[in-house]
Amino acid sequence: MDFKEKGLLFVLSGPSGVGKGTVCRALRERGTDLQYSISVTTRKPRAGEQDGVHYFFKSKEEFQAMIANHQLLEWAEYVGNFYGTPLQYVQDTLDEGKDVLLEIEVQGALQVKQNFPEGIFIFLVPPSLGELKKRITNRGTESLKLIENRLNAARDEIEMMKHYDYVIENDQVDCACDRIEAVVVAEHCQQARI
Ligand code: 5GP
Repeated sequence: MDFKEKGLLFVLSGPSGVGKGTVCRALRERGTDLQYSISVTTRKPRAGEQDGVHYFFKSKEEFQAMIANHQLLEWAEYVGNFYGTPLQYVQDTLDEGKDVLLEIEVQGALQVKQNFPEGIFIFLVPPSLGELKKRITNRGTESLKLIENRLNAARDEIEMMKHYDYVIENDQVDCACDRIEAVVVAEHCQQARI
């Protein structure tokens, strides 16, 4: 069939430390046909993070102005910092017929679900909470207090997986990527019938 569809919006969530970033990097390396939105955040850059590559790093005032000007598709406060998805990029990319993947936490994903119910919601789970703690600790970028905060947030987030369309365990990154790719293919096959 030869007609131009709009792109699909995929939302990938999961607790901090589950490996969302690693899975997204692996998908990029595989050349999976997805576009990645760059979020806006008030968090300070970690070592090696670049403005406009990993995030757009903003002050609280700049972030609030974006909310007031309706420039964010969704936003959330997460362990003391604000994170949000620039709306224009997502709209433009979907209109070009390209699929977009948002890697965001649960509160934001639920906002997307309300405003954009045709989105496809994927939840990445760790093999266990113990494994999650190990991954956050091994990352070595957070203080003990922050690790504890992120683990508490993770417990709450895991409760929310019932709101998602797909749950994928991130035991092996390659396997998780295979499954996400399978979801992308399946969702396009579903759209083809509409
Ligand atoms: P980190 O500080 O580790 O980069 O991200 C913390 C959490 O914020 C992660 O769960 C990440 O997925 C989430 N996050 C990143 N960008 C956004 C965004 O634009 N919106 C929302 N709601 N969460 C985001």
